[in-house]
Amino acid sequence: MSLNIAVIGAGIMGLSTAYKVMKDIPNCKVTVFFDKCSPETTGNVAAGFIYPYPCGRPYADGQDEPKLFGWFEKTMDWLKVLYKNPDAYKMGINPVSGYIMGGAVPEYATKLFPDFREIDPKAQSAFMIPQQPGHTFTTWQCDCSKYLPWLMDQIKAMGGRFIRHHINAFSDLKDFDLIVNCTGINANFITNDKKMQPDRGQVIVVKAPWINHFYISGTDTYILPRMEEVVLGGTHQVGDYNLKENPEDTKKIWRECLKICPSLKYGEIKEVRVGLRPGRSAIRIEVEEMDLDGKTVPVLHNYGHGGAGVTFHWGCAIEASDALQTYLKKIKKTKNSSELSIKDIIPMVNAVTLSCQSKL
Ligand SMILES: Cc1cc2nc3c(=O)[nH]c(=O)nc-3n(C[C@H](O)[C@H](O)[C@H](O)COP(=O)(O)OP(=O)(O)OC[C@H]3O[C@@H](n4cnc5c(N)ncnc54)[C@H](O)[C@@H]3O)c2cc1C
Repeated sequence: MSLNIAVIGAGIMGLSTAYKVMKDIPNCKVTVFFDKCSPETTGNVAAGFIYPYPCGRPYADGQDEPKLFGWFEKTMDWLKVLYKNPDAYKMGINPVSGYIMGGAVPEYATKLFPDFREIDPKAQSAFMIPQQPGHTFTTWQCDCSKYLPWLMDQIKAMGGRFIRHHINAFSDLKDFDLIVNCTGINANFITNDKKMQPDRGQVIVVKAPWINHFYISGTDTYILPRMEEVVLGGTHQVGDYNLKENPEDTKKIWRECLKICPSLKYGEIKEVRVGLRPGRSAIRIEVEEMDLDGKTVPVLHNYGHGGAGVTFHWGCAIEASDALQTYLKKIKKTKNSSELSIKDIIPMVNAVTLSCQSKL
C-alpha cells in the first residue's frame, strides 16, 4: 500500500517533516504545496541561530520543558551529523561562538553547550565594548538560505513533488490519504487556531565578513553571523502582521547594534527583512481526524514554533513522524488497512505549478 500524502508548507517545518516522513514510511508519495519557498520563508528571515529562544505566548507558558529539551537535543545531534558531511557548507551548517549579555539562559539549554561559561570580566573589558555580564558558548548556525534548498533537493531525489498552489481549506486536499499541516503563522487561518499570534521580527542583513562572533544583548538586540552575511536584529511585535519594513525599527536596530560592534558602520547593508514568528502557547504536534466533505482524513499538525523553529525543527520532525506512525498502527489494528488507501487521487496536475526561485 502506498500512502498519498499532501504536505502544506515549504518552510523549515514542512520540508523537515516531509523529509523525515519519507525516510520513515517506505513507498509513500509526498506532494508539498506552498505559497512561498526559500528564499521567501520565515526561516530565510531568521539568522538560523541554534538557541532555544523562549517559544510560546506569553513566552514558554504551556510548553513543557522536557519536550523543549528533547527537540533541541535532537536538532543539535542532527546538525552535528550533517556537519561531518563535506557538503555541510552547501547545507548551511557551521559552528559559531559568541556572547549573550543580560537575559536568562534556560538552564536546560546550558547542558547542550559544552563550553558554556560566564564571560571572564577581564576578557570582556579587553575585547568588548562595555556590556552587561553574560555568558559565552559555541552552538550551530543553520542557514536556511542553503538548508531549505538542500532539503528540497533531498525530497525531490526521493520522488517528492512540489506544487506552488494556495490551499484554501483542508477539503481542497480531501482526496489524499493524509495531510500534513506545516503552515507557520497561516495555521491561524487554515485551522482557525485562536492560540496563534504573529510575533513580528525585522532584521537588517549586512555583508561584514570580519564579524565572526555572535552577540546577543537583552531580548531584542542581536548580531548573528550566517555563512555569507550578518543578521542584525531585531524586534518582537506581538499581534502585528505587517510584513513591510518599519524605518523606525531599522534605525533602532542599527543604532543598538553599532553600540556593540561600532565597526559595523562599514558593513554593506544588503536588505531589510521582516518575518512573522508563528507564536503559540505551545507547539502543536498531533494527528487530528477531520471530516472533509463527508470523508475522514487524518491531518498531522506541526506548527507554532515561534522564534525557535530552526532550533527545534529536527526534534519536531521526528515527533511528527512518530505521531503519524503511531496513528497508522492504531487504525491498522481497528480497520482493514485497505480502507486507508485511496488509489485514485484528485488529479492535481491541474494545479498551477510555478517555478520557484530556489531552482525547483
Ligand atoms: C526575525 C526572525 C528571526 C528568527 N531567528 C531565529 C533563529 O535565530 N533561530 C531559530 O531557531 N528560529 C528563528 N526564528 C523563528 C523561525 O524562523 C520560525 O520558527 C520558523 O521559520 C517557522 O517555520 P515554519 O515552516 O513553521 O513557517 P514558515 O517558514 O512561515 O513556512 C510556512 C509555509 O507554509 C506555506 N503556507 C501557509 N499557508 C498556506 C496555504 N494556505 N497554502 C499553501 N501554502 C501555505 C507557506 O507558503 C510556507 O511555505 C526567527 C524568526 C524571525 C521572524
